[in-house]
Amino acid sequence: MVDFNDTPEQAAWRAEVIEFVEQNLPPDLEQDQLYSGTLGGLHRGNLSKERREELVKTWRQAILDRGWIAPAWPKEYGGADLSTIEQFILREVFTEMRAPIISVHDVGSTILVHGSEEQKAKFLPPMVRGEIQWCQGYSEPGSGSDLASVQTRGLRDGDDFVINGQKIWTSGAMTADMIFALVRTDAEAPKHRGISYLLFEMDKPGIQIRPLDQMSGASQFTEVFFEDVRVPVSAAVGEINRGWYVGATHLDFERSSIGSAVGFANRLNDLIEFLQAEGEADTGRSQLGRHEWVRLALAERATETTVARQFSNRIITMQARGIIPNTEASEQKLFSSELHQRISNTGIKALGPYGMLYEENDERTPQRARWGTYYLASVSETIGAGTSEIQRNVIATRGLGLPRG
Ligand SMILES: Cc1cc2nc3c(=O)[nH]c(=O)nc-3n(C[C@H](O)[C@H](O)[C@H](O)COP(=O)(O)OP(=O)(O)OC[C@H]3O[C@@H](n4cnc5c(N)ncnc54)[C@H](O)[C@@H]3O)c2cc1C
Repeated sequence: MVDFNDTPEQAAWRAEVIEFVEQNLPPDLEQDQLYSGTLGGLHRGNLSKERREELVKTWRQAILDRGWIAPAWPKEYGGADLSTIEQFILREVFTEMRAPIISVHDVGSTILVHGSEEQKAKFLPPMVRGEIQWCQGYSEPGSGSDLASVQTRGLRDGDDFVINGQKIWTSGAMTADMIFALVRTDAEAPKHRGISYLLFEMDKPGIQIRPLDQMSGASQFTEVFFEDVRVPVSAAVGEINRGWYVGATHLDFERSSIGSAVGFANRLNDLIEFLQAEGEADTGRSQLGRHEWVRLALAERATETTVARQFSNRIITMQARGIIPNTEASEQKLFSSELHQRISNTGIKALGPYGMLYEENDERTPQRARWGTYYLASVSETIGAGTSEIQRNVIATRGLGLPRG
């Protein structure tokens, strides 16, 4: 039988993390997290942007000092060398206690696996200190799901590649210092074997960035154009023309993100508490909270959230045994992203017409308009990092061994 209880060592570690959060998390920030989230680039907090930034800076320094910004990384690169289980407990406690999780971009873990010693020393410590912002140059107008068909070219010229082409949906490119990009460096080779995974600065001559507006009101997305951009051959992570496999490692890290289940539970519990309070106060604002379908839907979401937690547990125990989750990462990504949409949908319906109010400071708006923000932001989650259909294809072919269509 599987025992989900902490071992004595894990319980001691959990107690240590709880004590750290109690002692170091600025109370205002904790309260702010209760009503916040930077989903879709929109802030739903009750602190001013300046005050929030100040408190986040204090909190950041406290976790930086413990090596908990990149807890899995070796200490020499600014990490804490924590075991997989310790990392999971750390993340779980932070989420349960509504402490902001400040982490490094997944590209760092990819560099740790495939990068040269020089690349690790150059990029990892400044990443931990928050000095390098990254963007991901994978998708192109004709290459999204079929990512291996990327057409952005890198022609060899001496010790450089000369890059020409276009990326799209590049999140955060406007503020990024560096990009990690999939670039076709051998046009003659079979499509998976002619791609390199390159790291280069975003202020290089020949790079042009154009923002794309989103329905949430934010514009995190961009198109990035390359015209004769010179990048040294040493910018490749892993072997030249074998970058597809480096990029795939990155996607496995991205898809196996494990923190979401606890966050979902927090949201549901907040909503349930809100509906209970509304019911008792009998304000009439949330009549829908009394309908049977709301109770049934919330019960279903609560059950599914427990299932999502088991997906996380599976990923964690695999990683703890040194196995990189692949199909399991796709299962986790598929289930969590679709569950986030169902939870958002249930939340916004349970609040009735008030759920649609988007003005966070209006007293009629429930829970500072969080549910509208979740609802809009969750739409994109079944697309980013590979669509639900692509995850199902991975599960069917690699997981179940079914023939490709
Ligand atoms: C929030 C978000 C952030 C993103 N950030 C980045 C980023 O930073 N960098 C980056 O490079 N990209 C980013 N993307 C882009 C994302 O990776 C692509 O949108 C995604 O891979 C899908 O590609 P596409 O949009 O070209 O759709 P397409 O590949 O054209 O797919 C269109 C539809 O066809 C379906 N489909 C396609 N092929 C198959 C198939 N073989 N079997 C079944 N169905 C199929 C898809 O599921 C989808 O429904 C981001 C996207 C989102 C939503």
